[in-house]
Amino acid sequence: MTSFNDFGLVEPISRALAEEKYLTPTPIQAQTIPLAMQGRDVIGIAQTGTGKTAAFALPIINHLHTKRLRPDKKACRVLVLSPTRELSGQISDSFRAYGRHIRPLAVALAIGGVPINRQVRSLAHGVEVLVATPGRLLDLVNQRALRLDQVEVLVLDEADRMLDMGFIHDIKRIVAMLRKERQTLFFSATMPQEITKLADAMLRDPARVAVTPQASTVDRIEQRVILTDKSAKPNLLVEVLKTETTDRVLVFTRTKHGDDKVVRALQKSGFGAEAIHGNKSQNQRERVLGDFRNGKLRILIATDIAARGIDVDGVSHVVNYDLPNIPESYVHRIGRTARAGADGIAISFCDHEEAPFLRDIERMIRMSIPSTDKRTGERPAHRPAQQNAGKRHNGRPQRGNHQQRGNGGGNGHHGNNGHRSHNGGNGHQARPSQNGHQAGHAQAPRQEADAGEPNGIGNVTFLQRPNEPRRNAGHRAR
Ligand code: AMP
Repeated sequence: MTSFNDFGLVEPISRALAEEKYLTPTPIQAQTIPLAMQGRDVIGIAQTGTGKTAAFALPIINHLHTKRLRPDKKACRVLVLSPTRELSGQISDSFRAYGRHIRPLAVALAIGGVPINRQVRSLAHGVEVLVATPGRLLDLVNQRALRLDQVEVLVLDEADRMLDMGFIHDIKRIVAMLRKERQTLFFSATMPQEITKLADAMLRDPARVAVTPQASTVDRIEQRVILTDKSAKPNLLVEVLKTETTDRVLVFTRTKHGDDKVVRALQKSGFGAEAIHGNKSQNQRERVLGDFRNGKLRILIATDIAARGIDVDGVSHVVNYDLPNIPESYVHRIGRTARAGADGIAISFCDHEEAPFLRDIERMIRMSIPSTDKRTGERPAHRPAQQNAGKRHNGRPQRGNHQQRGNGGGNGHHGNNGHRSHNGGNGHQARPSQNGHQAGHAQAPRQEADAGEPNGIGNVTFLQRPNEPRRNAGHRAR
């Protein structure tokens, strides 16, 4: 499939795509769109950044345009469930962008953290597309502001993250309210056992499409580890920020508390940094995200959940101030820098207690990450995978290994990634306190990591907008 014209999408969609400057479908789009247009259920294994939103949004808009029906009051024809407020906002923006020449196309957003009344009003006359986080959706149903019996197409996005965040029961309750004769499009970056079971229960004879093996994503990013003492991390971060040439830095911590500590340490050293997490008000979050997008704020501190779904181009560095205890989260985190398609660098701080996490990560991505040892204590070196230093486990030489176990580097090929031009990104977050994401992460299934297999499927083509300067993509006005 070389062109969007080959899909037979209706003209108003093709026009919107041309305006978005989408020339070539991405692999997930090339595989998903024809199947979805035939009415098939689809399981798509794909991460954010592969173009999966358009992969489901385009066939859906096409369906809405060709089969025009007036939705009943308080009903929706298409329901998209996503785990976070940010991602939900981005998905609804995408529907509006791709469907901008389709009339009528009412797209509503139902997310927590904002007053419910406006959402109740927006649903009163029925909508074509409702994008929602599960908790708020159930609140609306319970208030009788929304009925789900007319849903023709259900999309479940980032199913694995739904599981991490403890939404699985909400999802099952929602699915039980839908009619059986519907189309279901199911997306997940990984397929742990529980997600496979959920998919089996929800889908009818699904076609399976897959892109983005984790290892390929990781391949395009220069990764380094700094072994350090826990207490030295604040100073180490300051040192990294002083020595690296950074455009825009996303610093990950495991906890919200960690977020605030890091912000204080940086501010004390004269660095402008801010955190986003669920404790912040909606306005604060939107302001901080807006500043990060438009380049006013160069350092953003986030937890995994807070950062999920945030689509910001031009992140030059991801710093893992804390290593995640779930290897998939590492891949999600560092993938933030590959989005700009530029020279993404991921630097991870690993203290003594985190050594096992590093071992799990290296096993999953099937490479050992070049490391520098800045520990001062006399602790036993729990450095995993030493014997494989400099070799990918599959025998291919590893990039950036010119300093054996030193400061990594390397100028390996970095692919190009997409830029979400239409994205307004309205920073919201789904019910973090209620679902306790730390606990959720701790319980998350580990089958994939243990298997060490990246789902074993083809290469990823990353998204590139034409005529866009790579390095400075992030600084353009959005
Ligand atoms: P997603 O994986 O859906 O979050 O999309 C990642 C980014 O790629 C977004 O900024 C989209 O606007 C952009 N994008 C999606 N499909 C294409 C395409 N076929 N060509 C160029 N950019 C795309």
